[in-house]
Amino acid sequence: MDAETAAKVRLEAKSPYEMRVHLGDHVPDMDVKSALKSGDLGFLHSFTTGSTVDGPGIRLVAWTTACMFRCRYCHNPDTWTLKNGIPVPLERAIEEVRKYANGLKAMNGGFTLSGGEPLMQDRFAVRLFAAVKAMGVHTAIETNGYYGHNLTDDEIRSIDLVILDMKAFTREQHEAVTGLHNEDVLEFCNRLAALKRPMWLRYVLVPGLTDIPEEMEAVASFGASLGVVERVEILPFHQLGQYKWERLGLEYSLAATDPPTNEGVAKAVAIFRDAGLRAD
Ligand code: SF4
Repeated sequence: MDAETAAKVRLEAKSPYEMRVHLGDHVPDMDVKSALKSGDLGFLHSFTTGSTVDGPGIRLVAWTTACMFRCRYCHNPDTWTLKNGIPVPLERAIEEVRKYANGLKAMNGGFTLSGGEPLMQDRFAVRLFAAVKAMGVHTAIETNGYYGHNLTDDEIRSIDLVILDMKAFTREQHEAVTGLHNEDVLEFCNRLAALKRPMWLRYVLVPGLTDIPEEMEAVASFGASLGVVERVEILPFHQLGQYKWERLGLEYSLAATDPPTNEGVAKAVAIFRDAGLRAD
């Protein structure tokens, strides 16, 4: 898509399930490289407003593009590719948050950076969080944790809440779900614990793929051992993103998979509660 056409796409979307591709194709690779280094420019799928599921209170969410994982259940595979996102100067992203800052504070909400994987654009993330914190707005990140090592301890402290999407505990299962190992994810969790940073854990429950009791028990026991996990959210698998896989020409292995039953979700929640965690 050329720059003029891309510029007409609204930064705000109704939801992240809106399919967005090629919006940053016109940005030269050299500029992408320097943007990633400086954080002067970010690539975003969109901003969405009014979310009640991406952190405490009402959230303004910025959805970044680029991800290193290839989760078999990913709902937004259009966010895997950096240049599918809209190139957004840091200052414009800051102004977008500023528009909502007073409302977010009044509603005990805040700003959440999600993706994709936001730490694929760590300099943009860090600078945006610093600006949002300076507005007195609560900050949260939704991350898979794989690039947590890109943040310094002080940068981690500028994020009020880390919502970590735990795909699995064992390396084997993690590779089966995402295509990559999870050593760095576990290390990042341990670092958050050492820094006493508040965390929420998420676990996507997919029948036939992640509904393995031993795996959930291991995630739960690890989560409980951290001592900083305030809440666990079991996210039932759904098919809202299926059309994106098809339109992107990607092979989707879960086309015949149904959402978990209420009983299946209740069992998963019980596993985490049994480990002493607050789960729902
Ligand atoms: S980490 Fe998130 S964005 Fe990346 S592939 Fe997995 S579900 Fe999709």
